[in-house]
Amino acid sequence: MKSIIVAIDGYSSCGKSTVAKALAKYAGYTYVDTGAMYRATALYAFRRLGDEALNREAVLTLLPDIHIDFVQTSEGQHVTLNGEDVESLIRTLEVGNMASQISTIKEVRAFLVAQQQAMGDKKGIVMDGRDIGTVVFPNAELKLFLTASPEVRAERRYLELKAKGESPILEEVLADVNDRDYRDTHRAESPLRQADDAVVVDNSHMTREEQMDYIIGVFRERCATV
Ligand code: C5P
Repeated sequence: MKSIIVAIDGYSSCGKSTVAKALAKYAGYTYVDTGAMYRATALYAFRRLGDEALNREAVLTLLPDIHIDFVQTSEGQHVTLNGEDVESLIRTLEVGNMASQISTIKEVRAFLVAQQQAMGDKKGIVMDGRDIGTVVFPNAELKLFLTASPEVRAERRYLELKAKGESPILEEVLADVNDRDYRDTHRAESPLRQADDAVVVDNSHMTREEQMDYIIGVFRERCATV
């Protein structure tokens, strides 16, 4: 079967990374979590700049010092920041929020998008994010746009945080989901939007298995026709 690029976009906490990882495993493709790249960038800015971490001028001077990579570990794929495994450090609500803010800076996006495009050179890649089907790979052979209601997404995120030992408050998680949706869809630079040729999957009322069966079906069909 021909190798293709699969671009997966959608709102925060709608299961993009679960779908992307499962599809990459099924297809034997490389998985790239672009949210982790924005999160690692935010973490670096916070470490170096503290309260100034969202100051555009200050952040821009740091970009040449940021080297992001992915490594395979016994627990799956982890992101590294200048060689340090920062996977667990970037998965907090705080870093997610900073990432969402830092991702509004045009030059930060250009810096990361160039790296993402280089990763797709050889195809055989599943990449998830907010702008993959619209900006990073507008010619991707398969674009998926995942969605679920804010309430369903907040509940899933709440359970995830609890399982990690945090003590989230459901109302706060829902407020955070709504804030991030608003920022992601209203920013001037590459706002989250559905590509015209994307296949939309609303998984609010689908089990993981139903969703994967459907997506694998679409993927196989696309590979057979490109
Ligand atoms: O997907 P994740 O929640 O890890 O992404 C963190 C933040 O990074 C998002 O809220 C979004 O603002 C930003 N992001 C982005 N473009 C991407 C991936 C993530 O702007 N391709």
